[in-house]
Amino acid sequence: MLPPRKTRTIHVKHLAIGGSAPIAVQSMAATQTRDIPATLRQVRILADAGADLIRIAVDSQADVDALAQIRAQTASLLSVDLQENYRLAAKVAPYVDKIRYNPGHLHHHEKDKPIEDKVAFLVDVAKRHACALRIGINAGSIAPEYDARFPEDHVSAIVACAVDHCALVDALGFRDYVVSIKDSDPRLVVQANVRFAERRPDVPLHLGVTEAGMPPEGIIKTRIAFEQLLSRGLGDTLRVSLTVPFDDKGMEIKVGRELLDDIAAGRFRSVPPNFFDGLNIIACPSCSRVENNRFVELAAQVKQMTAYAKEHDLTIAVMGCRVNGPGETDDADLGLWCGPNFVNLKRGPADVGAFSYDDILAALKRELDQLISAGGAS
Ligand code: SF4
Repeated sequence: MLPPRKTRTIHVKHLAIGGSAPIAVQSMAATQTRDIPATLRQVRILADAGADLIRIAVDSQADVDALAQIRAQTASLLSVDLQENYRLAAKVAPYVDKIRYNPGHLHHHEKDKPIEDKVAFLVDVAKRHACALRIGINAGSIAPEYDARFPEDHVSAIVACAVDHCALVDALGFRDYVVSIKDSDPRLVVQANVRFAERRPDVPLHLGVTEAGMPPEGIIKTRIAFEQLLSRGLGDTLRVSLTVPFDDKGMEIKVGRELLDDIAAGRFRSVPPNFFDGLNIIACPSCSRVENNRFVELAAQVKQMTAYAKEHDLTIAVMGCRVNGPGETDDADLGLWCGPNFVNLKRGPADVGAFSYDDILAALKRELDQLISAGGAS
């Protein structure tokens, strides 16, 4: 049995989240939203796997138009992922049941407009269309003011940001919201969520390890975080993010439910103390913004090609797009992010260059060998 949770219950239409409601398992379409047949197929794969809620990314008017058609052809509960253009919320709200905004992306548009006004706009849209909200915080895109306040401590930065945004939404009299605080390191996910819950035990939590990567490592990282949080009574809805082919995305739901069953039954798996030693590959799970469908294959090739370096304490990040790729690869020793025809390669925050999909592995190997021979890795 999982311990009782202290959160209040909110609703995403008929789906209750928080309090004594069953923990909801959700996922996200990895296809390009404007490819309507592919996205509908993806929604069906996730629904057939038992998803309680399915998220779709929207970045443009073409995506909004596609979303309207997708909405008309599925009864699944839909959530929308807003990135930099928060004003799209008004256009997508008629077609979805929940809106996710990332406080770290609100500064991009209308730079002179106060964040409070942007949140008020989002809450107003949610109220008018009976949508729930998620305040979705990601360590890879921390809002600049929190980065400046906590330059050496990003857990404090993301917790403070979450607490402040809850206060903003509360002040507007809106209750149907959840918070997520994600990082690619499960240990930091645990720290951040525990600290947030100490400040706001009433707010339902959406759990996830972002860019967990490919199975089995992606599942193990997620399990580490979920075991620690769910066994403390923290977590009301969750997503397992895995870098797998689009047709296998139902695995995110299946694994989510297996983890819940295991933890509820006390079947905890310990990991050896050196689990976090050696080569760490993080990879995004892909979404509508992925710039080339070769991304998932590329992530698998990177894992295979770099196996020879598995003893070295290095992090390689593989990201699918220009929206989150540049920022989320900054902290990695080597980072790749996909463009339509080229893959951009970085060494720490410095750009190395752009390489074709056929040449990127050789370029990555050159950089990796140099890092190893320069003693940049143990
Ligand atoms: S990095 Fe880009 S493609 Fe990958 S999940 Fe994030 S937004 Fe989507």
